[in-house]
Amino acid sequence: MTERYAVIGSPVAHSQSPTIHARFAQATGQDIAYDRIEAPLDGFERTVEEFRASGGRGLNVTLPFKQAAFRYCEKLSDRASAAQAVNTLVFADRILGDNTDGIGLLRDLEGNLGLQLLGKSVLLMGAGGAAQGVAGSLADAKVARLVIANRTFSKAAELATRFKPAVAVRYAELEGAFDIVINATSASLAGDALAVPPSVIGKNTLAYDMVYGRDTAFLQAARRAGARCSDGLGMLVEQAAESFFIWRGVRPATRAVLASLRGDPD
Ligand code: NAP
Repeated sequence: MTERYAVIGSPVAHSQSPTIHARFAQATGQDIAYDRIEAPLDGFERTVEEFRASGGRGLNVTLPFKQAAFRYCEKLSDRASAAQAVNTLVFADRILGDNTDGIGLLRDLEGNLGLQLLGKSVLLMGAGGAAQGVAGSLADAKVARLVIANRTFSKAAELATRFKPAVAVRYAELEGAFDIVINATSASLAGDALAVPPSVIGKNTLAYDMVYGRDTAFLQAARRAGARCSDGLGMLVEQAAESFFIWRGVRPATRAVLASLRGDPD
């Protein structure tokens, strides 16, 4: 029998997750259906309950509900506990929560983009669900320096305390170029530019925007500075593969799916 999954968020119309999971299912012979669910901002739990009651087996959770999903779970993986944010729900006897964003980002940076994190200086911008999901993985990757900046500084400070040796710095006080600058804010979705000093991006920087499918102001500025640039499509595919593995016990190959989403020839 076809088992049902979905991505829940607001907005969610832009999500490529249904396409990715359909490709994974086809490649691995798994009989699943995967939809998009737009939940009202005040109706996350109600919408999840309806999906679960109708036979749904699991959900991916996207903005702005990752913290709400964390509070909703009955049991958490270690990485979801550390992140205090959940992007993968499993409906078994209990409601299980996991977070695959961190492993997804690491696999994209190291596996797809060929970058070693060990010893690198990393600036993580944002302190919402996505930043919470990846901060622990970046800290564990033994980077030389992990700086967290966010519009609401208190949230960056709180995140840095949880993921030592990360430090929080205000945007205006950032100085000098980093090896890797990760935009984990949703500013690009609103078309807003970040108030970050241009000096954080140099010619040897990898500028990584977790947003995908659009040429963001952040990536445009990084390209003008001569930096290497990447959007977050690879992370999306890699975190999806980990969710698929959690749900189905089968690890799908990602490279061909990522290439076809990018429109690369076979
Ligand atoms: P979220 O929980 O709503 O957090 C939003 C973050 O963006 C907060 O840190 C917020 O700062 C900041 N922000 C929003 N508007 C801003 C602006 N105009 N200027 C400066 N900062 C601003 O969202 P999220 O779940 O963390 O998602 C963040 C982004 O990552 C989204 O665009 C999402 O699509 C993307 N994402 C991609 C992947 C992937 O696989 N590629 C995975 C996860 C997330 P304040 O705290 O000051 O409000």
